[in-house]
Amino acid sequence: MMTAMPDSHMSHDTVLSAHSWADIDLSAVQHNFRRARELACGSRLCAVVKANAYGHGAPRIAAALHQVMQPADLFAVVTLREALSLRQHIAHRPILLMRGPLDANEMAVVLQQDFFWVLHSAWQLSLLQQAWQQGIRPAGGKLNVWLKTNTGMSRLGMPMSEVPAIWQQIKELDADAELILMSHLACADDLQESLTPRQLQNFKTLADELGLKDGGHCTLAASAGILNWPQTHFGIVRPGIMLYGASPMIGREGPDEGLQPVMNLKSRLIAVNQVRAGDTVGYGATFTAPQDMQVGVIGIGYGDGYPRHAPSGTPVVIHAQGKAWDAALVGRVSMDMLTVDLTGIPAQAGDEVLLWGQAWGASLPADRIARLCHTIAYELFCQITARVEYRYR
Ligand SMILES: *Cc1c(COP(=O)(O)O)cnc(C)c1O
Repeated sequence: MMTAMPDSHMSHDTVLSAHSWADIDLSAVQHNFRRARELACGSRLCAVVKANAYGHGAPRIAAALHQVMQPADLFAVVTLREALSLRQHIAHRPILLMRGPLDANEMAVVLQQDFFWVLHSAWQLSLLQQAWQQGIRPAGGKLNVWLKTNTGMSRLGMPMSEVPAIWQQIKELDADAELILMSHLACADDLQESLTPRQLQNFKTLADELGLKDGGHCTLAASAGILNWPQTHFGIVRPGIMLYGASPMIGREGPDEGLQPVMNLKSRLIAVNQVRAGDTVGYGATFTAPQDMQVGVIGIGYGDGYPRHAPSGTPVVIHAQGKAWDAALVGRVSMDMLTVDLTGIPAQAGDEVLLWGQAWGASLPADRIARLCHTIAYELFCQITARVEYRYR
């Protein structure tokens, strides 16, 4: 929806007013993609749009990215369902299945649909060999497998010692195979961490052993590697969170990295209450008014995905009388509402509120809210529920 009108005029096509909405800025996701390209120039970009594009809506995010991608760039998701759904929206762009097929059925679909896929365990090689014996071949003629190895994270990926033999066995299938060596960094969010150089060294040793000297067929870096560890870029990088405008780095926020917020989470004041000194606010009576004060009730809560653990003091921005005002939570977040201190703010019921993102010249990075809640922006984005209306611009 292209419009410069204020949000309050945007849903006249419906009799329902949005209580809470995620205003999604598609030009920001394009900006952030270009930022990844600038940092990892020369590498192919594999844009990670798993988990519904980190809660932003995969179809619209992928369509926006597709417009700014180069021919060799691709998308990555985790489940086959995600891959099939994305294919419906973006027909002509490779899609990588980062967990690979789960069983023989999925293996057949992966080949027939021509998805790129990650082989992380030897049992998946058996699936491939069985499919091959049955005469199942990649629809586009080319087999695209990314072999994932464990260089130090010990999550998904086969031991490095197993890779050369599996690599060889795939070659022996006599397929037109394009093989990529893949691994994932455990601590790239922390610049002091010594595991990253050790993982990099392990990865390079294996790449050399496989004859991948120029690194073109290698991929190691996600957002944190892209932003801070240029030695990890190789031929393909896999940006996720940075596309959505948040920083993966400990203690940093999206704007510090030259990123723009994509999701601007908004709601409205639905009541303004006069509270007397000594009165308590909300469940558990965790906040006691130190003096007579105005408390605003905002129509968003954990039922919409706003984190319940946001403590008193967590900032919000209120748009009142044409200006942006900083306000802070008081008391507990409940399912449908949260409460804020309106001292000194001339706000009224109906005024719009920014929970994270940017609006009215104010900026409130999701990273900041996440830190106060002892989590990461990734989780905040993924937790937005279906009750929130998505508005794309
Ligand atoms: C999710 C994921 C990414 C993207 O990570 P960010 O930290 O969001 O950039 C990259 N690679 C793999 C294997 C992933 O699972």
